[in-house]
Amino acid sequence: MLYTSTRDNSIKVTASQAIARGISEEGGLFVPCELPFFSLDKIKDMASQSYIGRAKTILCEFLDDFTEEELDYCVNGAYAEGKFSSKDIAPVVKINEKENILELWHGPTCAFKDMALQLLPYLMTVSAKKTADGKTIVILVATSGDTGKAALEGFKDVEHTKILVFYPENGVSPMQKLQMVTQEGENVAVCAIKGNFDDAQSAVKAIFTDEAIKEKLAQRNMMFSSANSINWGRLVPQIVYYFSAYCDLMNKGSIRAGDEINVVVPTGNFGNILACYYAKKMGLPVKKLICASNSNNVLTDFLHSGTYDKNRDFYTTTSPSMDILISSNLERLLYHVSGCDDKFVSKLMSELSSGGVYSVSDNILCEIQRSFAAGFAAEEDVRKTIKKYFDENGYLCDTHTAVALKVYEDYIRETGDDIVTVIDSTASPYKFSKSVLSAVNGFDSDSSDEFQTVEELHNKTGADIPAPLAKLKDKKIRFSNSCTRQDMADMVFGLLGI
Ligand SMILES: *Cc1c(COP(=O)(O)O)cnc(C)c1O
Repeated sequence: MLYTSTRDNSIKVTASQAIARGISEEGGLFVPCELPFFSLDKIKDMASQSYIGRAKTILCEFLDDFTEEELDYCVNGAYAEGKFSSKDIAPVVKINEKENILELWHGPTCAFKDMALQLLPYLMTVSAKKTADGKTIVILVATSGDTGKAALEGFKDVEHTKILVFYPENGVSPMQKLQMVTQEGENVAVCAIKGNFDDAQSAVKAIFTDEAIKEKLAQRNMMFSSANSINWGRLVPQIVYYFSAYCDLMNKGSIRAGDEINVVVPTGNFGNILACYYAKKMGLPVKKLICASNSNNVLTDFLHSGTYDKNRDFYTTTSPSMDILISSNLERLLYHVSGCDDKFVSKLMSELSSGGVYSVSDNILCEIQRSFAAGFAAEEDVRKTIKKYFDENGYLCDTHTAVALKVYEDYIRETGDDIVTVIDSTASPYKFSKSVLSAVNGFDSDSSDEFQTVEELHNKTGADIPAPLAKLKDKKIRFSNSCTRQDMADMVFGLLGI
């Protein structure tokens, strides 16, 4: 299977090239030239497999330049026993006959990013061996909170890699920050930047595509790659859990093979929901993909009106991993719904970078709306939803998941479409303890000590505290530097010692 670029159809690369490079030279994103199709029989076969087996079944279609041994090595390493706190890796929790929560946060950093970032370092090192022999891969990450930690944890002490993470100084939760600044490993570095996630992301993209910087690295036998969801190696592992959740629902008798389901995804950079779109295109019976945003509702507006306009106030919310106004992976959706029109995508993306706004035609909007619905949740609704699910169902969810649950509630009220639904839960509530505790209590918690808040939340709800978070209490802070957007390139050179 070959991959091309969303901005230049003449580019053709293998899976391992796409993964090693991360982003295409001219700034486009790698996309598969065609998609494999999974018949109902094939899905039924997957139902009897473990998560690892399901992952292999899907990955071998997309990564056809990997040998079977290589795939086994990658998948068995990523999802090895003990790495995830649930033996199902991504368990489906039934709330009632219709509502099912897909818990994607049982990995080592307690957010859904682990689902892909535990696997990516394996995919990347195998890819690099094939395509960039001997080069050290330098992973640059812009994070809205969870990607940074998950990437650090995945890449720490992986041979022939270095990883540098930039996070918005005031844009992450105390637990997220603590997770990053205490990161262990010889090949890692972390730096705060003055600005928000979009500033960090666009600065990282600019460094990636800067010829002089690339040359400087090449002279030292290094090359950049990306662990953000612009990397195809991040998206393909995410397709797996949608098939897996469907299989689990079949096995539990919640649906019969072939029944359609709806899927609700708390969305930021549009990676997670795009993976579900691919799953749908591959034959998974998904009816609607419901895109849930927080107050930064640029995607809600786009999916309703066809105009993407990032010129608006940026809100710092209690669901920081979704505080994003430029959703990078939307570019891939635009490519597919426009019939692989690279000129069209290039034009929209240059409009976005110059004026911050673009519009699509009614035809394209219609095509998108056949698959997608959208809504957003304001901060007060997020609080109420956390409390409601805890009081009524005994289910404790984090702030991001609460956004999805609220948008789902609105969707049912507006459409009456209440078929069996999977709602993605993307983080442990303990990553956002203060917000979750305040919501459950119905009043603001006055504790300023993160671990005391964790303890209070545990006492109040009885929910287990994930071991990796509890352990942070005794870890040393290793990284306390910060820089401006303009200084980022120099910071990169400094951290690489070049
Ligand atoms: C990253 C993240 C999201 C958003 O996912 P995208 O793939 O960027 O849309 C939602 N919730 C949590 C907890 C996250 O870490």
